[in-house]
Amino acid sequence: MTAPVQGSATLGIAQHHFDVAARQLDLAPALVLVLRQIKRELIVHFPVEMDDGSFRVFTGFRVQHNIARGPAKGGMRFHPAMTLADARALAMFMTWKAAVVGLPFGGAKGGVVVDPKALSITERERLTRRFTTEISLLIGPDRDIPAPDIGTGPQEMAWMMDTLSMHAGYSVPASVTGKPVAIGGSEGRNAATGRGIATVAAQALRDSGIDPTGATAAVQGFGQVGSSTAQLLAAAGMRVVAVSDSGGGVHSGGGLDVDALTALKEEGGAIADYGAAQALTNDELLTLEVDLLVPCALEAQITAANATRVRARVIAEGANAAVDPEAEAVLTEKDVLIVPDILANAGGVVVSYFEWVQNLEAFFWARGEVNARLREVMARGYDAVRTKAQADHLSLREAAYQIAVRRVAEASEVRGIYP
Ligand code: NAD
Repeated sequence: MTAPVQGSATLGIAQHHFDVAARQLDLAPALVLVLRQIKRELIVHFPVEMDDGSFRVFTGFRVQHNIARGPAKGGMRFHPAMTLADARALAMFMTWKAAVVGLPFGGAKGGVVVDPKALSITERERLTRRFTTEISLLIGPDRDIPAPDIGTGPQEMAWMMDTLSMHAGYSVPASVTGKPVAIGGSEGRNAATGRGIATVAAQALRDSGIDPTGATAAVQGFGQVGSSTAQLLAAAGMRVVAVSDSGGGVHSGGGLDVDALTALKEEGGAIADYGAAQALTNDELLTLEVDLLVPCALEAQITAANATRVRARVIAEGANAAVDPEAEAVLTEKDVLIVPDILANAGGVVVSYFEWVQNLEAFFWARGEVNARLREVMARGYDAVRTKAQADHLSLREAAYQIAVRRVAEASEVRGIYP
């Protein structure tokens, strides 16, 4: 008998969005059964030696939701609250995300239950390498390609790529994306998710009758996604009036100096240490009166508890499932335009795809080409979703899910059920 796996709010949200799409598409019951389920998942418990000579055992996961359209693709999260249920939900989001922008990938997610900030760099390296070894049964350039997520970045991807390459006996750059450029990473990958968000957010503002130049924006979370989003919104002429990290945020009605905040974070500081603006809490940030709100931290930040107080006109979900379905109903009622996660934050997986292609071909593109192709994919994806939403009287999320689920269903159907 297998132990029951506890659900999570995020898994409930993932299943809710799929169920709505399945119903709207009148999907065949057999396809609903297959696509609602996780294809494959691995739980590992593994020891790591700490710097003081003691040992700790950590738990990690790798989950593949669906691989009908191509190898599995998805991030690796190092976070103390990581659960198998969340990995399942996030793997499902990856399947739909790849499909909605037309990438030949399935969806995966993984991670380790750990607070990486509490580890030294050598402990993080040993943890990453041992975890990579433990899940190496599942991952590889044709099977499942990890990328960064919360708590991981280019350095962890370098250790993962190196570990897999040591096992193979030769370099396998296409096994991981989000690597440093020095070992085959793509130009433009670090800012790719933010660039994608900035591209679709500007279009969503225009669609809501708001000129992006001079529009006000608040960004929650100032990590890889949040910081690049804030920079690119400012570069596009928007006034970034509030940003935050896990320790709180800052606000300035006249606009923040995003470069100064980025430098502060790079030096290891916290956003709340920034003296040249007013302090505010994450809850206050989410309910500011702004044209654009971009949550780029964790799931379920906008819920029934605060949705009625949200005053943004447009929300672009940088973080997956940042807005839960109950909150979405309230916000839709208030005419807030929501660009859903599977579209808004797809820029990261788009440039991960470019990185994988460059690695397989051993032929590298200039940053300008990467950014131009990224903008093109995001603009095309947004356009297709908006056109469908308008034609069929759907929300952008419903339209995005219908496009994505239909593509994956079609691939599953034409491949058939083996044997
Ligand atoms: P990260 O670890 O680099 O940054 C996370 C940021 O959120 C940090 O600034 C952290 O302080 C902040 N944060 C954490 N808890 C918070 C809270 N309660 N309130 C406010 N801020 C808080 O992670 P990331 O890679 O930037 O990912 C952010 C989100 O975007 C995640 O939900 C991730 O799944 C999603 N995402 C990431 C990528 C990518 O390419 N990295 C792509 C798509 C989606």
